[in-house]
Amino acid sequence: MSNRISRREFIRRTGSTLAGISLASSLGFPSILIPKKKDKLGVALVGLGQYAGRVLAPALQHTRHCELRGIVTGTPSKISDWQQRYGVPDANVYNYQTMHEVANNDDIDVIYIVLPPGLHAEYSIIAAEAGKHVWCEKPMAMDVDECQAIIDAAKKNRVQLTIGYRMQHEPNTQTIIRYGREKTYGAVTEVRSGAGFRGNHQPDSWRVKPELGGGALYDMGVYPINAARHAIGLEPVAVRGVMRSERDNYADVDEFTDFEMRFTNGITAVCETSFGKSTNYLDITCTDGWYNLRPFQSYGGVQGETSDGTVLPPDPDNQQGRQMDNDALAIRENTAPIVPGIDGLRDILILEGIFESSRKGGEWVEL
Ligand code: NAD
Repeated sequence: MSNRISRREFIRRTGSTLAGISLASSLGFPSILIPKKKDKLGVALVGLGQYAGRVLAPALQHTRHCELRGIVTGTPSKISDWQQRYGVPDANVYNYQTMHEVANNDDIDVIYIVLPPGLHAEYSIIAAEAGKHVWCEKPMAMDVDECQAIIDAAKKNRVQLTIGYRMQHEPNTQTIIRYGREKTYGAVTEVRSGAGFRGNHQPDSWRVKPELGGGALYDMGVYPINAARHAIGLEPVAVRGVMRSERDNYADVDEFTDFEMRFTNGITAVCETSFGKSTNYLDITCTDGWYNLRPFQSYGGVQGETSDGTVLPPDPDNQQGRQMDNDALAIRENTAPIVPGIDGLRDILILEGIFESSRKGGEWVEL
């Protein structure tokens, strides 16, 4: 794939702070195709699995700025149920071979890729080439080259690209990111974070197949990575990690990964991710206090507290609805999305470093 660049070169080109993200996204932000004036943007979901079916489609029934209008599926038996449930017309039903024809369908403005990670790049690029805005689920793709190829395709076709990190749209998460930026409790010195659940994935699940992006680090590890970067407001300069599996289902992927990120000024993030145990926390220590979110990435609500007794109660709004409405508004108003493609790429850059470190027995890998 084109645009192969080293981690070090990437950091050099784009800067090592999160400011680099907004700078890069604003500098590189193309003048996008503005959809025709419609009340709501039409969204087509690609991949009608658990997340699309149980979470995104129901959330799209309550969004104000976008709605479900199309589906792309490789399983014909799902079509009639989706059509009946959500009123999707025949003209807006595609399979993976016909998906590119959405280019001729004005009803669809946005394509939301909800496939296994190993397929994100291929179908995000098809969507961008069809001239549709792309929402791509986390983790963005398998490696940095794939992420860059998606970013390039979106830029070339003048469509928006955003990654489905719903937490960045969540109010308590936004509050703790602000605490870090404004040094409300002093400078951040350490982040500790864990994301995982006790899975029992069967051999046919993509979550146990390395080529499709299986394993705890791709699926859940990107949450602590993304949270730590945004809580600290910097990019890590080195990472190390150790991957292991205990159960046979996870023989080909990591069931557990423990990893650390080292930032400038001696700041560290100590993280864990797992398919073997349930864990869901983000603890932040600062020079003058602390705060946490526990849980920090549950659909049902994120809540936290701080060292001075401030309580961050769960927000009652639907996280995915808020995310998709924010992303739809960014398209309508031609503003930068909250989570641009570069943000997903940076997580994958770190993830690649953790894989490399684990192969080297857990030694530090410079980024
Ligand atoms: P899933 O297995 O339930 O659904 C995947 C869908 O992809 C299925 O409909 C399947 O038929 C389809 N598919 C097409 N080609 C496939 C192939 N070659 N192999 C396997 N499946 C194929 O998975 P999911 O839990 O819905 O996850 C889908 C994506 O959504 C992943 O990227 C995942 O990380 C992401 N996700 C995000 C969140 C979040 O909170 N943001 C939550 C869950 C899942």
